[in-house]
Amino acid sequence: MKASEAERSSGAGAYERLLRAIEEGELAPGSRLREAELAERFQISRTPVREALGRLEAQGLVAHEPHRGASVAQLDYGQVSELYDLREVLEGTAARLAAIHASAVETEILEEMVARDRTLLGDAPALARTNRLFHRQIHGAARNRFLQSTLETMRLSLVLLPGATTLAAPDRAAESLAEHAAIVAAIRVHDGDAAEAAARAHIRAAFKARIRIWQES
Ligand SMILES: [Zn+2]
Repeated sequence: MKASEAERSSGAGAYERLLRAIEEGELAPGSRLREAELAERFQISRTPVREALGRLEAQGLVAHEPHRGASVAQLDYGQVSELYDLREVLEGTAARLAAIHASAVETEILEEMVARDRTLLGDAPALARTNRLFHRQIHGAARNRFLQSTLETMRLSLVLLPGATTLAAPDRAAESLAEHAAIVAAIRVHDGDAAEAAARAHIRAAFKARIRIWQES
């Protein structure tokens, strides 16, 4: 019993470590995933590795081909476009709901996040991190748990986007920050229409930046 519990917890650990390696680009989309190599890398047995790969496969992050074995899933252009389409709808709805429900304190936190990001311009990895936190803060202020869990599931697919963060592209970080400021300004005055429009425009601009990075790579 104890052994299987330990195995389960190392399975969860293997899952987290694999997910992080994919998220940070250490294991890029298309990379082969060999059980034995991963077990050695994480210093665990192959069972938890297999379990973690199975979980990632169920979430669409790992592809398993009969003769090739497992690899990090790759999104084609159609899938990237579909992902941004859905993201535009969901982020737009989250911003609209946040404009209705955000408390004064939540709005202040969003304003502080925008102000802090101004000091991070030029540091793309830091901005990528704070961008995730900014959107999560809006998702929380939207007060809809179903929307929040759908956005969380979608976030998993976002780790498969080709290329580095769009915030590393010249001018994109400053543009993105101005877009965040527009979303927060609309939330501040409880203007749902403006908040949704600003959030949709932000995701469309991010999609365009993603396409540019992709074409250049
Ligand atoms: Zn953003």
